[in-house]
Amino acid sequence: MTHTQRRTKIVATLGPATDAPEVLARTLAAGVDVVRLNLSHGKAEDHHRRAQAVRAWAAAHGREIAILADLQGPKIRIERFAGGPVQVSEGQPFVLDCRPDAVPGDGSRVGVSYAGLPRDVRAGDVLLLDDGLVALNVREVVGSEVRCTVKVGGTLSDRKGLNRQGGGLSVDALSDKDRSDIRLAAEMEADFLAVSFVRSAADIEEARRLLRAAGGDAWLVAKIERADAIPVLEEIVDASDAVMVARGDLGVEIGDAQLPGLQKRIIREAVSRNRAVITATQMLQSMVSAPIPTRAEVLDVANAVLDGTDAVMLSQETASGAHPDLAVAAMQRICLGAESQFRPQDYANTSPGAQRLDRTDQAIAHAAMDLANRIEAAAIVALTESGATAQWLSRYRSAVPIYALSHNAAARRRMRLLRDVRPVAFEGVESGSDSLRLVQEAIGHLVRRGLLTPGSRVLLTQGDQVGRHGGTNTLRLLSVDEAGEAQNLREL
Ligand code: PGA
Ligand code: MN
Repeated sequence: MTHTQRRTKIVATLGPATDAPEVLARTLAAGVDVVRLNLSHGKAEDHHRRAQAVRAWAAAHGREIAILADLQGPKIRIERFAGGPVQVSEGQPFVLDCRPDAVPGDGSRVGVSYAGLPRDVRAGDVLLLDDGLVALNVREVVGSEVRCTVKVGGTLSDRKGLNRQGGGLSVDALSDKDRSDIRLAAEMEADFLAVSFVRSAADIEEARRLLRAAGGDAWLVAKIERADAIPVLEEIVDASDAVMVARGDLGVEIGDAQLPGLQKRIIREAVSRNRAVITATQMLQSMVSAPIPTRAEVLDVANAVLDGTDAVMLSQETASGAHPDLAVAAMQRICLGAESQFRPQDYANTSPGAQRLDRTDQAIAHAAMDLANRIEAAAIVALTESGATAQWLSRYRSAVPIYALSHNAAARRRMRLLRDVRPVAFEGVESGSDSLRLVQEAIGHLVRRGLLTPGSRVLLTQGDQVGRHGGTNTLRLLSVDEAGEAQNLREL
């Protein structure tokens, strides 16, 4: 049995800090499941080069690592200052100039790239710059000028982000750059495409349509980071394949004190709707410079695991930090520790199917997870083409590993995001051969890899036809005999 296998997945952002080949190798080897390419920074050739380097390392080490392309999204930003950073102090006037030809800024005004701002704000609104480090009170809107009074002073520099407290700035979710980056993601054969500042299911549907038209088959990840997304969370979750608790921008819009409750709610909503969920941003922030995390950061990562997240994410810690490999190693260690304290029974009420079952493969998954805990199964084996059955199985948060056998490499890479799931390459046998032979092949495959040992009990799910999507309709109870062969389990 392989109980020391980590069950929560690690997403690590690549950047200048991981470009040296030996650093990249150490970082990936420390336990990365998915790399994130942040399309807010760098050029197309940087992303192509990084994707290539990861694939080359993975191929050389017999590993499969998925690639997540993260769109910049329509983040509203101030423009540049004529003479470098400026100081603004509480009580002074400050003007946001939304004309397209605004001159470079100074200590009293600066341009804003979003012409719709004067329409979207009104007197009394609070605008937050640079993730809230500087705050402005809107005094009045005159033509294309938003005239403010500084509420919280500080330093402002070129191209800092701008949010409204409470959210509601109505920029289209997909900018022109995002549209061309979707084609880039398709070209790079990304496994996941993350959409920033999603407001509605329609934003995800639009991104999916553009991606499919460009030939991409990635899963769509909705980044939950706007206040406006919260009232329509359910429809966004349903429209996506996975969601991200994007705590950086979300915390700015809704206030940091609301984040813990919202993180738990987003995770629950995703898992109970058969979607994956990534918890992101500042998880090990002090490791941007320090070699070990703070106690508070250890607790944060562990609490996300206990909340039931599929994956935890590193941003600056790996992309531009001093110790990218140590940050991944810390995540690995903290996840394992938290998993040993995770009580699946605490999660029973949020599992999909706790209320109702809609599909046959979901019903099989439900039955398998119920039995797994009661007959002390060592593993669940899913013969799955697209990964759909593994996804259902993994929504139950049991203590039993799920080996997902698929011959489809793209499906295996996508399954790397799913908690508890270990994708295994499996060619199977030619379709048409009987399903019992397939079972023997599958069990033998896992025994030869040391993933199953003689004497263990196994639950196996399969469909009648090899290679058919969503066709799982059979659950077998097996034991592995001394010769490593599967036998029907006769007595419990
Ligand atoms: P970002 O998204 O890193 O692209 O801003 C994550 C977040 O806002 O938390
Ligand atoms: Mn963000």
